[in-house]
Amino acid sequence: MITEKLNYSKIYIKTYIYHMQKISTDVIIIGGGMAGLSSAIWCKRLGLKCIVLEENSVPGGQLNGIGFEITDYPGRKAYGKQFAQEICTQAEESDVIVKTGEKVLAIDKENHIVRTDSFEYSSRALIYAAGLQRRAPNFDTKNFNEIYYSVSQNRERFQNRRVVIVGGGDGAYEAALNLHGFAASITIVSRSVPRAHQRFLREVKKKKDIVIFENTEIAQIVAGPSCFHAVLSGPEAENFETAIDILLVKTGFEPNSGIVQNLCSLDAAGYILTDSHQKTDAERIWAVGDVCNALYPSLSACAGHAGVAVKNIASTIFNKNHD
Ligand SMILES: Cc1cc2nc3c(=O)[nH]c(=O)nc-3n(C[C@H](O)[C@H](O)[C@H](O)COP(=O)(O)OP(=O)(O)OC[C@H]3O[C@@H](n4cnc5c(N)ncnc54)[C@H](O)[C@@H]3O)c2cc1C
Repeated sequence: MITEKLNYSKIYIKTYIYHMQKISTDVIIIGGGMAGLSSAIWCKRLGLKCIVLEENSVPGGQLNGIGFEITDYPGRKAYGKQFAQEICTQAEESDVIVKTGEKVLAIDKENHIVRTDSFEYSSRALIYAAGLQRRAPNFDTKNFNEIYYSVSQNRERFQNRRVVIVGGGDGAYEAALNLHGFAASITIVSRSVPRAHQRFLREVKKKKDIVIFENTEIAQIVAGPSCFHAVLSGPEAENFETAIDILLVKTGFEPNSGIVQNLCSLDAAGYILTDSHQKTDAERIWAVGDVCNALYPSLSACAGHAGVAVKNIASTIFNKNHD
């Protein structure tokens, strides 16, 4: 029974609330990003019933955080949110069920059951498409609460504040340029030689008031008499302290594979290992998208994984042909 509809800009994502605890379908898809939604569209195309379980209130995953125009997806140029909306619309038109606000907490491999805090789902095949999560700070932040991962979603908070950015990639340097002249001060702390694109490195170097520490880590954030301080550690800044109002974390992403780590094989960095059909070494579990793509994560790869996995499921589990 449909009891609620969430407005997601111009399209509506159906939120289904079932008055029963157990739900059964052909294919359960965990994660409603590009890979999960593409998988759902393929399920419908091949006549398989499926449910997408998405923990956020809107589907789209990382697409929702891409603030620039995507120009490398064949046949389509769009900003991230617009792209997310279009794929949601396509899923909607295919009558895909997307349950938002539904975080998967555990998978019972023996009984093929997926558990959230209020439901149990069973299916003959499972597609794991949980993508990436932001890497959290690996140092002691004590009682310091002003920690953000994105400028665009919290921009006004940075105005006239002393910002320390941790990270040395494109995200860190792009954020420094974005905040220059808006924040009171900007310090970039990179634990190695920065890996950002030359264009960003050149532009940031031109801004003489952006302070850069290379080969340096933040050891901890401590409360001082009038403000917090980031305590640095490294050859160039041992025990150096810099005043901080906001910590902007740009240390990249890691695979969201925690709940399958005891079910199937992962590589050393936590990415799920699959064969050429996107099949993991766990019975009836496939993986698609960034969670199993350490080297070349992209929207095209997500779409490709989805087609391969669902066709393999259709033929091996449901004896359905590909046409
Ligand atoms: C800033 C940025 C720019 C990019 N630019 C490009 C580009 O120009 N071109 C390109 O091709 N690619 C680009 N990418 C990469 C591309 O966005 C990703 O490859 C793609 O979106 C990954 O999709 P995914 O479905 O694998 O994972 P995600 O988008 O991470 O989606 C995973 C989903 O699973 C959900 N989830 C996780 N755990 C659970 C759980 N336990 N229960 C329920 N739901 C769960 C998450 O909430 C999320 O919605 C960019 C990425 C970023 C961050």
